[in-house]
Amino acid sequence: MTDRFIFTKHRTDCYHCHQDADQVIKAVPNQAQVICANCGATRIFVPRIQDVSKEGSYTKIGCYDTWNLVSDATCRNCRTTGPHDLIIGCSHFTVQCRNCGFTHFYKFDLEYMGQCPIEGAE
Ligand SMILES: [Zn+2]
Ligand SMILES: [Zn+2]
Repeated sequence: MTDRFIFTKHRTDCYHCHQDADQVIKAVPNQAQVICANCGATRIFVPRIQDVSKEGSYTKIGCYDTWNLVSDATCRNCRTTGPHDLIIGCSHFTVQCRNCGFTHFYKFDLEYMGQCPIEGAE
């Protein structure tokens, strides 16, 4: 059994070191992280609610660029493996199954510089 849900990268200007660097994105059911591959700046998101919603209906505008990404994942609701929309802003992180609309909502929890604490998510 694996808890790994989302594992992808987004190359962009890091909000912390301001380099064009891969931002490593990981999510498991109880936590999501965005980690700068260059400087190690890490943002941790924790679950808020889970719901099935219409696309975009919970999307809020972040305080800087919101990333709209797509990653394949296995949905915990419909069990389909397929594209999930990731929406990542400075205070929120959502993962939505395109097949059934099941959505994980995470909210920003803390930020630190260091190592990934999600065991087994490498
Ligand atoms: Zn950085
Ligand atoms: Zn689904």
